[in-house]
Amino acid sequence: MSLLDRFRNKDRRALSRIISYVENRKDSYQEALANLYPDAGNAYKIGLTGPPGVGKSTLVDRLSENFLQNGGKVGIIAVDPSSPFTGGAFLGDRIRMQRLVGNEDVFIRSMATRGSSGGLAQATKDVSLVYDAFGFDYILIETVGVGQVELDIVDASDSVVVVIVPESGDVIQAMKAGLMEIANIFCINKSDREGADRVLSELNHLLQIQRSKSEWSFPVIPTAAVNNEGIDQLAKAIMQHREYLLESDLFKIHRKQQIRKDIISYLRMMLTGNIEKKLKSADSFDNLLEDIYNGKADPITTAIDIYNKHYSRT
Ligand code: GDP
Repeated sequence: MSLLDRFRNKDRRALSRIISYVENRKDSYQEALANLYPDAGNAYKIGLTGPPGVGKSTLVDRLSENFLQNGGKVGIIAVDPSSPFTGGAFLGDRIRMQRLVGNEDVFIRSMATRGSSGGLAQATKDVSLVYDAFGFDYILIETVGVGQVELDIVDASDSVVVVIVPESGDVIQAMKAGLMEIANIFCINKSDREGADRVLSELNHLLQIQRSKSEWSFPVIPTAAVNNEGIDQLAKAIMQHREYLLESDLFKIHRKQQIRKDIISYLRMMLTGNIEKKLKSADSFDNLLEDIYNGKADPITTAIDIYNKHYSRT
């Protein structure tokens, strides 16, 4: 039986193999993705983001249990940008989600940064497509929210949950990192700690304008993930957001934006690979470098010339 046949027969080892293909950009990965595409499109994708240590993994663990109890199958992607902010999270995620290990209806994959942020973002979306085609109902994508890499979570998810904790200045930090704009739902985790009420009212205050401009309520859900508190409410808010999107045109608009970005991203990857191949095979490229170094040419004109020669039809 071919790998794809085994995948379609719900063989988890085939799933794992295909994920590795896709993650490592093995030769045939694009063909595999294209083959799987018609089977995908049914999963609901939920992104969880926020600063390191706020309890994202614990929340993902609890939310997964909640979805499982309601008969859903859950695919988890823990994105580890391997930044100085998260050193060691890779192993940590797996340890924290031990409780889900061995459950046939859950699959967990940690993904580390490869090269550029764009590369990781696309690989995450591609793995999500594989999960989707495999038949997972929910895909939970967990990533640290501390800058540009993480904002790609919007492109990978249908609903974005921003997680903060009741520490002083956390709301301000979240705003600075641009997390306020990308959140559909806010979660104040570690609400068992002091200060949760204050953060709740701070956030509610800040959200007044956003709420007045939208039909969506931007709910703020207090949770204490370690104690399994507030998880039902969080799951409910996610489902309400899903309904809100589906009832309006927004779901379609958002998915079409994602498709558009996917096409551009694939094209960019192909073009970059193609340019590098062309440059490698061009004998004259070394001469060009020499000329530029000696002040006889400049890099921008050289790039324009190469572009015109190989890519421009006008
Ligand atoms: P992540 O880095 O955002 O994924 O955070 P983790 O899920 O690894 O949690 C970081 C630490 O916070 C762990 O020690 C958790 O046990 C703890 N933690 C998670 N949720 C809660 C909570 O609701 N209350 C308290 N007090 N601690 C929590």
